[in-house]
Amino acid sequence: MAESKNFIEEIIDADLAEGKVSEVCTRFPPEPNGYLHIGHAKSLCINFGMKAKYHGKCNLRFDDTNPSKEDTEYVESIKSDIKWLGFEWDKLLFASDYFDVMFDCAVKLIKKGLAYVSDETAEEIRLRRGTLYEAGVESPNRNRSVEENLQLFYQMRDGVFPDGAKVLRAKIDMASPNLNMRDPVIYRMLHATHHNTGDKWCIYPMYDFAHPIEDAHEGITHSICTLEFEDHRPLYDWVVRQCDFPQPLPQQIEFARLNITNTIMSKRYLKKLVDEGKVMGWDDPRMPTLSGIRRRGYPPEAIRDFCERIGVSKANSEVQSSYLESCVREYLNLHADRVMAVFDPIKVVLANYEGSEELCVENNSMAEVQTYRKVPFSKEIYIDRSDFALVPPPKYYRLKPDGYVRLKGAYIIHCDDVLTDSEGNVAELHCSVVPNSRSGDDTSGVKVKGVIQWVDAATCVDATVRKLQSLLTDVKDGVTDFNERFNADSLKVVSAKVERSLLSAHVEDRFQFMRVGYYVLDKDSTEGRLVFNEIVGLRDSFNTANSQK
Ligand code: ATP
Ligand code: MG
Repeated sequence: MAESKNFIEEIIDADLAEGKVSEVCTRFPPEPNGYLHIGHAKSLCINFGMKAKYHGKCNLRFDDTNPSKEDTEYVESIKSDIKWLGFEWDKLLFASDYFDVMFDCAVKLIKKGLAYVSDETAEEIRLRRGTLYEAGVESPNRNRSVEENLQLFYQMRDGVFPDGAKVLRAKIDMASPNLNMRDPVIYRMLHATHHNTGDKWCIYPMYDFAHPIEDAHEGITHSICTLEFEDHRPLYDWVVRQCDFPQPLPQQIEFARLNITNTIMSKRYLKKLVDEGKVMGWDDPRMPTLSGIRRRGYPPEAIRDFCERIGVSKANSEVQSSYLESCVREYLNLHADRVMAVFDPIKVVLANYEGSEELCVENNSMAEVQTYRKVPFSKEIYIDRSDFALVPPPKYYRLKPDGYVRLKGAYIIHCDDVLTDSEGNVAELHCSVVPNSRSGDDTSGVKVKGVIQWVDAATCVDATVRKLQSLLTDVKDGVTDFNERFNADSLKVVSAKVERSLLSAHVEDRFQFMRVGYYVLDKDSTEGRLVFNEIVGLRDSFNTANSQK
């Protein structure tokens, strides 16, 4: 079967076949005004995916043309998130490095009679722009001479005017059906300190002027962006053509941005959550930022797989968050070691067992190469309260009075006696080990259907476990506002007893707590206390929901 191609690959194939381009070059252009989120992962996968498929290049270019909102903290976080996702950029660039190039381009346009300095306020420009049905009104400054425009533009650069007093506009067509072509503003005055260029500039280029110049200057062949820029493409093409960049000129291609149910893709709102202290920071494990989902334990491989599977399209849509979870679960099922944890312990005393031993337990039967670990076993253990029933329902295969169950990787036990407290709650179980029933060499002849997890009471370790839910509640009664949908119950902290082997785990190591779910060791862990974040549960709600349809 022929490999199916997405529409971007079809465009690139055609460009290569026609000889229009010889080497594919893309770029990822984040604005350093926040942390990257899962939506950016899609753009990263597309841009770096083209680099890989066509043995081309992909640059990382910080779009720092807006001086007021940017921060080097964001620059560093973006770099580290991209590396974590598994991508390597070719050149590392800053749009602000091109301010001189952009200035020269603006001068070129003025000299060609294609740009003019306007004294209009933002409001006047807006009022004269016209509508979809009505042509705009020409600026009173539209026919200034080249000499006057040049002089005024140099004065703008020299900071002669206050903010907002003058702008540079491209002279295109006030009657264009595309509003972006109605003499768009390409430079504005702004007396602001820039994190890279300091106080060198008090004029800054607008995005629609800067971006095509950055692309063309860098030799980008395919400038991939999201659909909202579709209407800006004629302006993009106009800028690269009129600024006389050499062939091949970069080509803008738009795709539909990624939206996921109950997931915030707005940097502004994510920043608000951080600033208001509603979350632990940009890397809170509930945050949809890449640093958040990293801390949540989502593997980069699963994120890349998810982006590949949802594909690239021209139509906006919303992907179920359970689909991403399903990709994560599938990866972890193959790659996460199984360990034992007990969340709601009942003590079990094994009357006929003395001393202690170290059992050799398989880490992950799904792994290609088997590895084992030592799990201590002794007279007192804990099992989970949910694995014992005083009055069992029919077909109950876990532990019950006078019943048997297998302890994972260890022995079959028999429940001899149940101790209850004054309120009738189960306080302790007295059990006995079935002779010769050890996993792997069981000659006991006793058949059991249930296998449960357990931890050794003498050596187990207390852990803090964060159970996590989406930061947003479902859309209900038409309420779509993020502030009103904030899920105050999205974080629950519980404790658990976990097996001793986890003391040697490293931060970001991921495990399956057998029969419970997947968990990752968090950086908040200390010598005395392990902290885990819940990654995903074991049950796949996406595949279940879809197979029932
Ligand atoms: P803002 O408008 O707050 O700056 P942004 O989402 O545009 O946010 P950028 O840093 O400009 O953020 O984005 C970098 C790149 O990632 C852009 O090419 C943008 O189109 C792409 N991108 C952003 N959000 C998504 C998304 N949800 N799905 C796919 N691509 C996205
Ligand atoms: Mg943007």
